[in-house]
Amino acid sequence: MTAVTAGDVLQLVRDGEARSRAEVARLTGLSRTAVAARVDALVEAHLVAETESPGIGVGRPPKRLEFEAGAGLVLAAAIGRSRAQFTVCDLAGRVLGADELEQEVGQGPADVLPRAVSRLRALLLKVGRDPADVLGIGVSIPGTVDPVAGTSLNSAIMRGWDGVPIAPYFAELSSAPVVIENDTNAIALAELDAHFTRYQDALIVKASTGLGAGIVAGGVLQHGARGAAGDIGHVKYRGAHNVPCRCGDSGCLEAVAGGWALVRDLTAQGREVAHVRDVVSLALEGDVVARRAIRSSGQAIGAVLAAAVTLLDPAVIVVGGDMAPAYDLLVAGLRETLYRDATTVAARDLDVLAATHGADSGTRGTAVLALRRVLSPRAVDDRLGLNIAHPRSPLRAGA
Ligand SMILES: [Zn+2]
Repeated sequence: MTAVTAGDVLQLVRDGEARSRAEVARLTGLSRTAVAARVDALVEAHLVAETESPGIGVGRPPKRLEFEAGAGLVLAAAIGRSRAQFTVCDLAGRVLGADELEQEVGQGPADVLPRAVSRLRALLLKVGRDPADVLGIGVSIPGTVDPVAGTSLNSAIMRGWDGVPIAPYFAELSSAPVVIENDTNAIALAELDAHFTRYQDALIVKASTGLGAGIVAGGVLQHGARGAAGDIGHVKYRGAHNVPCRCGDSGCLEAVAGGWALVRDLTAQGREVAHVRDVVSLALEGDVVARRAIRSSGQAIGAVLAAAVTLLDPAVIVVGGDMAPAYDLLVAGLRETLYRDATTVAARDLDVLAATHGADSGTRGTAVLALRRVLSPRAVDDRLGLNIAHPRSPLRAGA
């Protein structure tokens, strides 16, 4: 192993692979002195603590290395069309505080983001922590995200958000890096975090007002060439022929199977529903029309997913989003068409699961996004580099 840095060593400690200096040396092949330099730097930065193991027998027990999850915080903002959810997490992803905000559908960034920032500030205050403790901020939004510009990209759904940089809104709260991701990809990251050792190839479906998919291949979340991979809601579907879609086109899967289409259909049948969550509540109360609508949405999604399953051969399909509380109905429909239309090989032993963190999947994944950024070996090395470069700078000497 060449060029093993302190950041790599932290990764080994976080993963639980290395629990002592001796184990770091064994896993990396580094000399004792080289291990000491890296571990000491991590201890000095409060990212790793060394504790005395309970002694067994004679001799000096080896000190145990532990990741200091309380050394900093990440903030997560999962922004949807009608609701935004927020969490403050420690560096192990444990939620210290959570809040949410209902908003009018389709508001622009100038309305939504300042409110998001003030909610996060209030949340920090509530958990008794300081903005200076924040090391990273994750933000998820519906639609395609331009990862370089940190903006929404060609989104017919998020009107007014296209090309508007999101990070500057958070600058008044913290100077920490802001990472932007698509909402379904954020759920995929939460699942990757939960199942990484079990599933390396997965399709994650978000069934909410809109429909989206996240693709994990070989353990890596796939964004595609333009960041637009997984836009399953606007795949053309035979059963939606000529039905207008909110993207401006017609014939999309969403036009018959998206939450907004279910709201449209149930309203036409005399039900009082404003949001797909109302449709789900009705279905769970036993309303036959709502139950049929969700099952039929599942059938349409399954028919389109069958092609994706045949192409990608995933080990698991995970279903999340606002329709997930009606998982049994939705997935009963989905299985009917999926197993009918996918090839036998790809559908064999294919698991279908509900999103691990339910309604919290969005914030969970958005926190994972921020944690991946701030705890990546490179980011850690950069932080340590700064500390080492200016250990007694005049500005800090008196602090
Ligand atoms: Zn469409």
